[in-house]
Amino acid sequence: MSSPSHSPQEALAAVRHRIARAARAAGRAPEDVTLIAVSKQQPWERVEAILEAGQRVFGENRVQEAQARWADRGAQWPYLQLRLIGPLQSNKAADAVALFDVIETLDRDSLAEALVRAIAKAGRAPELFVQVNTGEEPQKAGVLPAEADAFLERVRKTHGLNVSGLMCIPPADEEPAMHFALLRKIARRNGIERLSMGMSGDYETAVRFGATHVRVGSALFGAREGFAASAASGQ
Ligand SMILES: *Cc1c(COP(=O)(O)O)cnc(C)c1O
Repeated sequence: MSSPSHSPQEALAAVRHRIARAARAAGRAPEDVTLIAVSKQQPWERVEAILEAGQRVFGENRVQEAQARWADRGAQWPYLQLRLIGPLQSNKAADAVALFDVIETLDRDSLAEALVRAIAKAGRAPELFVQVNTGEEPQKAGVLPAEADAFLERVRKTHGLNVSGLMCIPPADEEPAMHFALLRKIARRNGIERLSMGMSGDYETAVRFGATHVRVGSALFGAREGFAASAASGQ
């Protein structure tokens, strides 16, 4: 058992407090920032503890893991909002459309096409964010910054999908602020209001740079299962 000061409920209160403080310091209203609790790879007891404390917005990075965990929870926990924050394969588009309220990782035309078909079939349309690979990292998903405007135009006009936000995951070894600023700039010139940026290590910075959604996992729940203690240092 972890000590009471590290209970999920206390961690939730602390993170919410820090978000509110960062928002006010930036002249923003705390309620303009939504906390996404990233529950991937976390034991259910920890997730349930923060559900009981009132948290309703959750992020998962894998469709199958999210289905197994969340598909039947809606009845017990009304007002849940589930957000896909990991890469989506086109052949899982139908499953993702059926489960998620928001898909944050649209980043290519083939996926846009698969989503259009899945949405038509399901009669249900999740909100969509486009992921931007602000650090231009080859191994990372997301549209390149230089291609973002053209991609957004195609998503909207060619594929006929609404995009309400942008999402980024800055390179682990770089100052995140410049990436947050870049994402905000791309959003502004494309008339997009929502920004999903900031994780456990940098969510207050992200709030300063205009994040409307921060994705926090380990700072809320502790290290993920299967993570070596060294990989979770900093928590
Ligand atoms: C896992 C994950 C997070 C949460 O990371 P923490 O550092 O544990 O807060 C945020 N965003 C994405 C896309 C993730 O995959």
